[in-house]
Amino acid sequence: MKKIKRLHAERSALWFFCRDNQLMMCSEGLLPRGKLRDIDFEFDQQCPSYLLGYHDSKPCILIDLQHQTIELASSQNHWLDLRALMASLPHELSLMAGRACQVANFIRTHQFCGQCGQRMFSIAWEVASQCKGCGHRAYPRISPAVIMAVVKDGKILLAQNKRHQGGVYSVLAGFVEVGESLEQTVAREVLEEVGLTVKNIRYFGSQPWPFPHNMMIAYLCDYDSGEIKIEPNELIAADWFDASNLPEIPSNQTIAREMIEHVLKMK
Ligand SMILES: [Zn+2]
Repeated sequence: MKKIKRLHAERSALWFFCRDNQLMMCSEGLLPRGKLRDIDFEFDQQCPSYLLGYHDSKPCILIDLQHQTIELASSQNHWLDLRALMASLPHELSLMAGRACQVANFIRTHQFCGQCGQRMFSIAWEVASQCKGCGHRAYPRISPAVIMAVVKDGKILLAQNKRHQGGVYSVLAGFVEVGESLEQTVAREVLEEVGLTVKNIRYFGSQPWPFPHNMMIAYLCDYDSGEIKIEPNELIAADWFDASNLPEIPSNQTIAREMIEHVLKMK
């Protein structure tokens, strides 16, 4: 990913105008595309911009508006929250939108050095900030978390977390602790949250989760021993489910949903 020193008015691109974890959308629920001179609102062109990657051979450019107040010339343009936007965009663009917001968040939170307090500057050839005083360099933070489906006799363990809205049940998840392997985290989290031991821990897949900077690493595992005993500070309920008695589960586009459908052979 490259810092763009100057925005080219003639460059045709897909534009990710980011402000407070929201992105600018056009009337049809699309991201702005085309030449910069055709974008119909005024903004400070000195604000940070990065080349995020390419989509259908078009450059995807982040413009971090930070906290600028933007007058929208067209009533059709609007801001959309990242969570809503990720649910509506195709998968590849949804990943790009998450990347845009994470880079913007990094730029905003690394203006000063965490070691000596002096001003940081952005490095041109990668997404990193470096301190003018002591040379300390910082990169966007990625926080690894495991998400795991425990399987027993064709059923899956689902739990209702205190943080989940409504009555949604999902697979268990938890953050990796310092010095821990991912498999150790899976075993520890299942034991802590529901009092079960598991075996045959195996990789399933991964999903960047930009709220604000998590990486979900998914595992399947088999029930080994114990009775369900929930951790009341984390969970409201937990039980074994099959396709015939499923409660409300996470939405499409989440790896949790993908795991549930995989285990219960719903697709
Ligand atoms: Zn410093």
